[in-house]
Amino acid sequence: MSIRIGILGYGNLGRGVECAVEANPDMELVAVFTRRDPASVKIWSQGVPVVSVKDVADWQDKIDVMILCGGSATDLPKQTPEYVKYFNVIDSFDTHARIPEHFADVDKAAKESGHLGIISVGWDPGLFSLARVYSNAILPDGKDYTFWGKGVSQGHSDAIRRIKGVKDAKQYTVPVESALEAVRSGSNPELTTREKHTRECFVVLEDGADAAYVENAIKTMPNYFDEYDTTVHFISEEELQRDHSGLAHGGFVIRSGATGHEKEHKHIIEFSLKLDSNPEFTTSVLVAYARAAYRLAKEGQTGCRTVLDIAPAYLCAQSGEELRAHLL
Ligand code: NDP
Repeated sequence: MSIRIGILGYGNLGRGVECAVEANPDMELVAVFTRRDPASVKIWSQGVPVVSVKDVADWQDKIDVMILCGGSATDLPKQTPEYVKYFNVIDSFDTHARIPEHFADVDKAAKESGHLGIISVGWDPGLFSLARVYSNAILPDGKDYTFWGKGVSQGHSDAIRRIKGVKDAKQYTVPVESALEAVRSGSNPELTTREKHTRECFVVLEDGADAAYVENAIKTMPNYFDEYDTTVHFISEEELQRDHSGLAHGGFVIRSGATGHEKEHKHIIEFSLKLDSNPEFTTSVLVAYARAAYRLAKEGQTGCRTVLDIAPAYLCAQSGEELRAHLL
């Protein structure tokens, strides 16, 4: 019998889960849940119902794992502890500083209801977290570096759109190549925020807006841009649509360490991702962890987990025997 998947929230990730489930023959998509009027939400999958979240409790016996696709800022802190009361759940919560708090909320609700929740699944947090943990365990004497990009930062693009006179905008985070090379050389450089990444902005102005004002407002924006070297390009709406509507992203996690009695031997562990579609890749990770949630719940496990708690074999459709024969 296939693993019955539900999607809660139909944005970029919701659409990505549809593709990812299709790519995994041991899974089937059962329903999509939304806070909007279901009649207004057109989904890609044929024959799959779109249901109001108000009716979600009626689906408890029909779904093995609910993949929560809400936003990290305000949706998931409420949705994950709420829906783990009814289902085993997976989320992609990515507000790193608030993960311990979110874990505690989900753990309590999951234990009370007898379900399993895996939080902060994706690539960062997610696969990058695994890379950091493996390499720290293996090279206790060393230094960690994470670089993001080149890719679109939704938060920074939104921040630009809130400036007076801006009609639309896209912001790319770009790793500085010379900094990457310095890290790869094993010299363990101390890098400032400015030395690691630059920010590149493509901005469409409202008619009659003051370009100099907008450029200055971007470059001096505290927390978002003031600590970076930022380039601002003013372009037309057509150019933004044509050249900047993609959702590519990626990055590098590097640990540079040393072994030997005199720390004379240097080692570099590097894990990198180059993603054509951030949401399609993120949801490919989410469904692999949905398989793990399904299996762990079948074993009777309850409570909250992160990617750090899940053994790799639980992610794969193949049996242990097949994995040992081909992937070990
Ligand atoms: P979206 O903004 O596309 O969707 C978020 C929610 O907004 C949806 O669940 C949906 O809920 C609602 N929504 C979507 N489209 C519309 C619309 N047209 N009108 C009204 N409401 C809409 O976010 P993403 O899917 O791109 O990302 C979700 C989260 O995933 C991000 O906040 C990010 O933190 C996280 N993420 C984590 C990653 C990781 O590596 N851990 C990587 C990438 C993302 P509803 O259907 O109920 O209205």
